[in-house]
Amino acid sequence: MQESSPQTFSRVLSSMCTEPHPAAREAAEQFLATNPGDPATYETVADLERRVIDGLGELARLTTPAGYVTSGGTEANLQAIRLARNRAETRTPNVVVPASAHFSFTKAADVLGVDLRVAPLDEYRVDLDAVAELLDEDTVAVVGVAGTTEYGRVDPIPALGDLLADDGTDALLHVDAAWGGFALPFTDRDWDFRDAPVDTMTIDPHKLGRAVVPAGGLLAREESLLANLAVETPYLESTSQVALTGTRSGAGVASAAAALEALWPDGYREQYATTQATAEWLADRLMTRGYDTVPPELPIVAADLNGAVAPLRERGWRLARTEHGEAQVVVGPHVTRERLQALLADLEAVA
Ligand code: PLP
Repeated sequence: MQESSPQTFSRVLSSMCTEPHPAAREAAEQFLATNPGDPATYETVADLERRVIDGLGELARLTTPAGYVTSGGTEANLQAIRLARNRAETRTPNVVVPASAHFSFTKAADVLGVDLRVAPLDEYRVDLDAVAELLDEDTVAVVGVAGTTEYGRVDPIPALGDLLADDGTDALLHVDAAWGGFALPFTDRDWDFRDAPVDTMTIDPHKLGRAVVPAGGLLAREESLLANLAVETPYLESTSQVALTGTRSGAGVASAAAALEALWPDGYREQYATTQATAEWLADRLMTRGYDTVPPELPIVAADLNGAVAPLRERGWRLARTEHGEAQVVVGPHVTRERLQALLADLEAVA
């Protein structure tokens, strides 16, 4: 077999994932052949999964969290919508999402036969009046994003909660903090289970949490909510399962437990401070050079590089593009100032 090695992260500026913490890497290797999908057989990894959910609960200020480690944000979002749909009585369910919502909600709606109602944005955040207009008695969930994929913005989560309460609807409030969840505890944003009546949340250790891929997270306010996902499992030692997939990655679970143990809270706090300062530094440099730049509220910088993305790609840089055509730099812990200095030098050369 031909030898291949994974690419390095040195010019990857487009990824929500980053280099795993060394402890996460080591733990993953130890648990490669375990299956948290069968917790009665694989008790040690089941215990680690409990620890991960408790840790994620601490991050999102939920004292007795229910949940499980998913394959990623897509599965967590899909399962949150499935949970809301299963719990509701309606036969024609709909979900209201902001226009900034990740495309995983499009997949979820397609798979689950749920109508997706997209609310427009106002200055990168969901327009509350538009959400109010889209809500009706068939709405099973309203989604707020805490750290949008393109611009790192946080929707007004408490106001979404108020809106649901005022409307008297039984819809659930789901927060997608897949990427932002490991940064937001160190900001003054309102996004978590104590800031608002949040029912479910996506929060992914394999993004800013420094776990290995795959390790996503679904949290639910209580076990009774999660029970809407349970199916009986006649061939296993355990009797029921809430996860979407059957066999799951023990490596992902163990690595998430190890990363949380190593980094929560001080390591993640430091990581947030460094990446946010780096993002602001980059935005400042880009603005000084005359590029239209969206100021980073979380460590993502979007800027119109006047067509430089393609020539930069030829020089090895991996940059994502926003829907509006800006180049996007996701400032994960591997994105250092030295690397960005090299990017700026190449930008000058290709401009
Ligand atoms: N939600 C948000 C806000 C995201 O940014 C992403 C991925 O970037 C996802 C969900 C999907 O996560 P995954 O790629 O792990 O399935």
